Amino acid sequence: MVSNTHYTRLSLEKEKNMYVVLSAGIHGDETSGVFTLLEFLKKEVQKYGNKFTFHVYPCVNPTGFDNNNDTNYNEVNLNRDFVDAKTDEIKLIKKSLVSGPLSYEFAMDFHETGSGEEGNPDNYYLYEACMNVSKRIGNYIIDNVLLYVPVCKWNEIWGEPNSDGVIYYPENCRHEEYKEPTSFDSFLFKNYTSHSFTVELPGRLKLEDKVNAGLETIRTALKIFGNQDL
Ligand SMILES: [Zn+2]
Repeated sequence: MVSNTHYTRLSLEKEKNMYVVLSAGIHGDETSGVFTLLEFLKKEVQKYGNKFTFHVYPCVNPTGFDNNNDTNYNEVNLNRDFVDAKTDEIKLIKKSLVSGPLSYEFAMDFHETGSGEEGNPDNYYLYEACMNVSKRIGNYIIDNVLLYVPVCKWNEIWGEPNSDGVIYYPENCRHEEYKEPTSFDSFLFKNYTSHSFTVELPGRLKLEDKVNAGLETIRTALKIFGNQDL
């Protein structure tokens, strides 16, 4: 009896400690991810509180958000500052990560696509970084977000193979800056998680549609990760 009780308590603790990190707004003019995370925190996060603990950075680049710029007030692209961290914003994030859990079940960072010109997709897609191919879930996320937004089906996006809306990393990474952990997602993938998502919401669509697609992306991941642990 004692050992059973003990086992149950440990199981509950384990369930409660599935850590997830969510982030948005590192490019200040890509605002729909910020609103997605605020909406998630206001209306949905409590549904998952018995299983997940969330660490949320809803607006990584507040001055860029205020000025509608991708860079910060010093014109620095914060998503290239994670190796040596010269900006206050990224120094603070790295400091907070050091004082948090050693690893996260998954990380999800929200961005927005551009106009559709010059090889820049105008429909939804995402990057999924996970070494273990059998644990990848990007195709399930795509199936669900298609209810809200169109998905980019190009063969390649920015020179990298696109599998019906998902670019799988690390094997399809063709960009040197992502091989080094200069970006938030690649930094987390190298140091804090074995499963990282970078979501590109379609910039040209209405905010409501983008937020719905963002929320569905989070929900799908939480549903699958939650069940995997049962
Ligand atoms: Zn971006």
